Amino acid sequence: MPLVVQKFGGTSVADSEKILAAARKAIRAQQEGKQVVVVVSAMGQNTDLLIDLARQVSEMPPAREMDMLLSTGEQVSVALMAMAVHALGYKAVSLTGAQMGIQTDSSFTKARIRTIDAQRIRRLLDEGNIVIAAGFQGIDQESNITTLGRGGSDTTAVALAAVLQADACEIHTDVDGVYTTDPRHLPEARQMSQISYDEMLELASLGAGVMHSRSIEFAKKYNVPIHVRSSFSDTQGTLIVSETESPTSSVCGAAMTRDEARITVQGVPDVPGVSLQLFRLLADHKIDVDMIVQNIGQENLADISFTVLKEELKLATRVVSQAVQQIGARSFTFDDEVSKVSVVGLGMARQTGVAHQMFRALADANINIQIITTSEIKISVLVARTQALAALRVVHQAFQLEIRPGDAARWSDLPARAATQANLEKLVRDLQAADMEQLRLSDVSLADNQARITLADVPDTPGLAASVFEAVAEAGVFVDMIVQSCDGFMGVTSISFTIPREQFDAARAVAEGLKTRFNIAKVTGSREIAKLSVSGIGLRSHTHVAIGMFEALAGVGVNVEMINTSELQVNVVIESKSGQRGLAALQEKFSRDVG
Ligand code: ADP
Ligand code: ASP
Ligand code: MG
Repeated sequence: MPLVVQKFGGTSVADSEKILAAARKAIRAQQEGKQVVVVVSAMGQNTDLLIDLARQVSEMPPAREMDMLLSTGEQVSVALMAMAVHALGYKAVSLTGAQMGIQTDSSFTKARIRTIDAQRIRRLLDEGNIVIAAGFQGIDQESNITTLGRGGSDTTAVALAAVLQADACEIHTDVDGVYTTDPRHLPEARQMSQISYDEMLELASLGAGVMHSRSIEFAKKYNVPIHVRSSFSDTQGTLIVSETESPTSSVCGAAMTRDEARITVQGVPDVPGVSLQLFRLLADHKIDVDMIVQNIGQENLADISFTVLKEELKLATRVVSQAVQQIGARSFTFDDEVSKVSVVGLGMARQTGVAHQMFRALADANINIQIITTSEIKISVLVARTQALAALRVVHQAFQLEIRPGDAARWSDLPARAATQANLEKLVRDLQAADMEQLRLSDVSLADNQARITLADVPDTPGLAASVFEAVAEAGVFVDMIVQSCDGFMGVTSISFTIPREQFDAARAVAEGLKTRFNIAKVTGSREIAKLSVSGIGLRSHTHVAIGMFEALAGVGVNVEMINTSELQVNVVIESKSGQRGLAALQEKFSRDVG
């Protein structure tokens, strides 16, 4: 019998009428001959209210007690939802995370799912019940209640769909589907009919709050097709499916993380292993670090900048001041009035010109770019928060995302799951035996055919990046990685980019040609650099991958010149002559995670 998982978010169960409406949707699916599991979030803003309550009692509530408290929100919703189904004359049973055997690790408030024992759910479904499952929660080995992180009910839904081999996972929410950007920020955003797992994963981790990014990691790993749709209507929503089933464009969407903070550590001794100490200390305090850029400065001293969420800045500055002492850096600065704006698209991996189009749009709007980082399928810039919304709008316009492309007509039914039945059964057995959210890497590789150009000590003005990359593109040079760093005072910047080795001379000539126009103090470069890459799924939420790379490379004395991270890959640039040594170190480090 077909099985569907339907998830209803907070707004979709905000009051009794909405709960009854959701119950009707579940009953309708059952009447169509499907087994139905409903996953629900806490009603309306209940989770926020509970967090507020906790803060009134304690400035730093213990994480374990936080989870005890927050899990009650979902417990209220499942009970009411089951009552609603009963009231409409059908059978339903509600279950908490513990009751449906969702085992997690013990990282309270951001626990990861280890296993799910689906037997009880299966039995209840076979007895004709609609099973109402509490989202966002589980238990650890000692039966402590855990939660999966804000927005985590999506992850519960997709994980259940994976273990139950559901035919579909429907995410019912307060928008009609996934839009080119958050429609609350830009009313001109348009709904997409389909998007690939990779693009959605990237968008979600860059600020598109419509899906919990870890839910997309599950969907991709276990090949679960997702349909994001409105709770309040029956219109078709957005399918999140594998790369082969979705159209590719250079840019499919844009996202913003509003509340970011930048930290720059200045005068860091430029020797292998130093940045590692800094990032390990931050990781030990569970602070997620993003947009890491470093700038090779004078006399073997480097500046390292990175961003953290604004809410983590206080703790981060405490940790950084400790690190500055430990590593013998000069000092650090921070700015908590910044936002990150990003564009995402699978097609940009094969197409030049996306970067300079984005930078030009920002320059024309007189928006200064403070930091740039790129990866295969995304470009992110850091801008002043007062300009963030304007930046999102001009970037959205630059790629004409508000114009509906031809993909609307391509909406098809959910694709059949690609795996064969036998494969699926094996997958589910594995799922129940192993750690479901465990890191899985696909590859460790070396590309030894690249070169780097650096424009150092350049006065920072709007339009700098746009002009540089326009000129580079005009010369027919294909740019791979771009980083723009900042010196901590927003006065002087430096831009580095990588290119195919055979284009080194052409790229260098372009850079030299820009020297007087932009007051560039010096152009440096290296014809012989190599890129080491570790590929997998969900690498940004598994922060220890980047740290593990630093660690392995420092261990064999290899210096990291540039780094970029995405959900799918962490890349570092090193000297070509250390390529093989670095590769061997990474292969050894990650030997157990690959496969
Ligand atoms: P739920 O409670 O149903 O989980 P969320 O509030 O978590 O709902 O997610 C839905 C919200 O996500 C929308 O109201 C919208 O403002 C926001 N959002 C952010 N980015 C996007 C996007 N790219 N497409 C659609 N919605 C988005
Ligand atoms: N109720 C939780 C939250 O507000 C989980 C969720 O809604 O997905 O974050
Ligand atoms: Mg949500």
